[in-house]
This record gives sequence, structure tokens and C-alpha cells, in this order.
Amino acid sequence: MSVSRARAYNNVTREMIDLPFYDRGLRFECQQCHNCCRGAQAGGVYPSRPETQRIADWLKISLHALRSRYMVRELDGAPSLRIRANGDCIFWDEGCTIYPVRPRQCRTFPFWPENLESLPTWESVRQTCHGAGRGKLYRLEDIRSILHGRAT
Ligand code: SF4
Ligand code: SF4
Repeated sequence: MSVSRARAYNNVTREMIDLPFYDRGLRFECQQCHNCCRGAQAGGVYPSRPETQRIADWLKISLHALRSRYMVRELDGAPSLRIRANGDCIFWDEGCTIYPVRPRQCRTFPFWPENLESLPTWESVRQTCHGAGRGKLYRLEDIRSILHGRAT
């Protein structure tokens, strides 16, 4: 088979089985820039109810106290972690102060479904996450298991 026919065949095969753009894996190694926890680019963190309970248990405070001190309700009603005026997560203090119980959203960054929608969305993550695209290769199966909740 000629190279061009082989390429065409591969393209058709990839489309037929609908492989994502990261079928050969993606590189990621945290560079500790902390842009995912601090500053304007960090964005909201939305813990699930069990995650909220775990954080409260870990801090040894009631769910009510956690919600009133450390959480807000977004306009759509979703509870999220408070963000300080400078954009830092309320649990940021030269490191994540709830690291062992940080929400799945934090544990799985930057492999979020919306970041993996396409190559351009992944490329845009690289502008703020200095570890995306560098270091350790995460294979397709690794990325799939992170999408199911495994920590990076
Ligand atoms: S933005 Fe990326 S590289 Fe920076 S601390 Fe977060 S995960 Fe690590
Ligand atoms: S909970 Fe921890 S890991 Fe998550 S954004 Fe806040 S400081 Fe960062």
C-alpha cells in the first residue's frame, strides 16, 4: 500500500472508530505554577455533596459552617468554593490547605472533559497550565480513567 493510501486508510479508520484527538496520549507534569488555584485564571470549584461533606469532616466543622464560611451559591444555584478578591481559592495558602480531600475537579485537572473536547481546547489550557503538554505521557487509557475520577 502506498504511503498516501495508507494515510487515507488510517484517517478513515480513525474516524470510523471515533478516536479522540488524544488517542496517542497527552503529556502533563505539574510545574507548580498554581494558576489552577490562584488568580484570575483559576475559576470556580464545584464540590459534589459527598466531597463537601468530606471537606467538612476533614476540617472538623459542620456542613453548615463549611458552607457559610467557605462556600457561595452561584447564580444557577450550584454551590462553589469561595474565591478571594484576588481570584485565589479560599483554600489556597501557599499550597492547598485541603489537599487530601480536594474535590475531584482539582484532582483531575487539566484532564477535564471540556478541556479535552478538541485540540484547540487543549491548546488553550496550555496557556494557563504550564504543565499541560510537558513531561509525563498519559496514555489514552490513563486519560480515560482520569475522566472517571482517578487523580492525575
Ligand atoms: S496550572 Fe497546571 S502546572 Fe500549574 S499548578 Fe495547576 S496543574 Fe500544575
Ligand atoms: S481546593 Fe485546593 S486544589 Fe482546589 S482550587 Fe482550591 S486550593 Fe486549589
